[in-house]
Amino acid sequence: MRLFLLSIIIFLSLGSVLAQKVCNTPGYTLPEIKTGSNAPGPEKVITIPVVVHVLYNQSKENISDLQILSQIEALNADFSRKNSDFLKVPAVFASRAANTAIQFELAKTDPMGRSTSGIVRKKTSRIMWSDDNKIKSAASGGSTAWDSRQYLNVWICNTVPGLSGYATFPGCDAALDGIVVRYDAFGTSGVVVAPYNLGRTMTHEVGHWLGLKHLWGDGPCGDDGIEDTPKQRGSNSGAPVFPRLTPCNGSIDGEMFMNYMDFTNDEAMGMFTAGQKSVMRAQFEPGGKRASILNSRALEQSWNTSMQSAVVPQADTKVVNVYPNPSRSGKINLQVSQNTGINGMHYAIISSGGQIMKSGHLESTQKEIDTRVLQPGVYQIRLTDAGTTLFTKFVVQ
Ligand SMILES: [Zn+2]
Repeated sequence: MRLFLLSIIIFLSLGSVLAQKVCNTPGYTLPEIKTGSNAPGPEKVITIPVVVHVLYNQSKENISDLQILSQIEALNADFSRKNSDFLKVPAVFASRAANTAIQFELAKTDPMGRSTSGIVRKKTSRIMWSDDNKIKSAASGGSTAWDSRQYLNVWICNTVPGLSGYATFPGCDAALDGIVVRYDAFGTSGVVVAPYNLGRTMTHEVGHWLGLKHLWGDGPCGDDGIEDTPKQRGSNSGAPVFPRLTPCNGSIDGEMFMNYMDFTNDEAMGMFTAGQKSVMRAQFEPGGKRASILNSRALEQSWNTSMQSAVVPQADTKVVNVYPNPSRSGKINLQVSQNTGINGMHYAIISSGGQIMKSGHLESTQKEIDTRVLQPGVYQIRLTDAGTTLFTKFVVQ
C-alpha cells in the first residue's frame, strides 16, 4: 500500500515521522516465495491480462481510457527496465536492475468470453473508499472482481485522504484479489497529480501483488528477504540524494531509495532488482500462486460471439432466483418471476472461465436442473428468450 502526506497523524503514531507514503497491504506476513529452477526461462515474457474497474462519484474520477492506457505503458516500461528515467539510477545499483520480462495488457475477453475493452465503469454514490475491500464487490457498492485466476483486477476510485493504493499478496482470498489505486495517482496523463504522476503507485502495488515486500521489511532496520536489495532503516520519502547513508545500512552505497518498493516520489524511483524479479517470476512456476494467469484466455479474441450484445452479467435476483444457493445436492431449482412474461427459455450454465458447461431448455417458470456434472465453484446461469437475456450467479459446493 501507498499512503501519502495527509495521513501524517497516522504516520506519527506508527513512528514513521518522515514517511510520506506507507503501505498497509493486507496479507503482508505471507511466507517468502521460494525461487527455483522451474521458473519460466528469462526470455519468456509473461503477459498479465488486466481489468480496470473505474468507480466514480465526481466526473473527474471517471478517468479517461487514455489515462488508463498511460498506466499500462508506464507499467510495461518499469517492468522491462525501459523507463526513460532509468539513467538516473546510480551505477552501483543500476548493475543490479532487471528487466522482469513481465508485461501487462488490458483484457480483450471478459469472463463470459465476450469482447471487452478491459475497462468497467460504474457510477457510485460513495464519495471515497478506504482499504476495507468494499470496492471489490457489487454487493457492497463496488464492482465485483473478475476471476482473479485469469485477470489482474484493478479498482480506481477516490480513496480516503492519505491513501494512494493497496494490494493483496499472492494466495489471498480470490474474491478480494487485486489492486486499488487512487484516480489521480494512476497513469501519467489526464487528471494525475504530482508527485505520484509517473504511474509508480501501480508499479509498487503490482510488486506486492507478485509477492514483493518493502525493502525494509516493515521493521526498523529490517529486510525484505531479497539478497540484492540492501537493508534499510525504514521507508524513504520525497526525493533523497544519493548516497542515502544510514547506520543500519552500513554500506558506502547506502539505501536503494530508487527501488519501486520504497515510498519515495515517483520521480525518485526507477528499478526492480534481479532478486525481486526472481521472486515475482516464481509466482508463475508450476504450482505457483499466480501460475493460473498463464492459462488465461483473457487476451484471446472473444469466443462467445452469441453474447456480444447481451446485457451486463450482473446478478438479477429480482427476476431470477436459484435455490438452494450454494448448492450441495447435485441440483438447482430455478425460479423466474411471473412478471417477466417469460415462459419457455433456453438456459446455459457458464463457468468462471467462460465455458458453457451445460445447456438446455426450460418449459415453465420453475425448473430443476441437474448440476452433478459441475465441479465446485461459481457459475453464471444465462437465460434467454426472444429479446430477453437474464443472468444470475450460483455456487456449487
Ligand atoms: Zn507498499
